[in-house]
Amino acid sequence: MSVAVDLDLPAVDARSLGTVTVRYLGLARSHADCSCGWTGKLRLLKAAAEQDAWMHSIHERCQVAVPLVRPAVAR
Ligand SMILES: [Zn+2]
Repeated sequence: MSVAVDLDLPAVDARSLGTVTVRYLGLARSHADCSCGWTGKLRLLKAAAEQDAWMHSIHERCQVAVPLVRPAVAR
């Protein structure tokens, strides 16, 4: 006796270009940017920058970084 299994695996998205993150630059200064080259507007609210990142991910099929928000690197 044999059993046939049909796997419905999701197709790999070849259009995925980059990884989008939110840069937290301090109080009231955040923006989203992506490794595909896209940069979002500077936002007063971190949540607005996060929304920019998600919208970019949805429209351009770029992946969202985990964690999404990354603090600015002290120099
Ligand atoms: Zn992108």
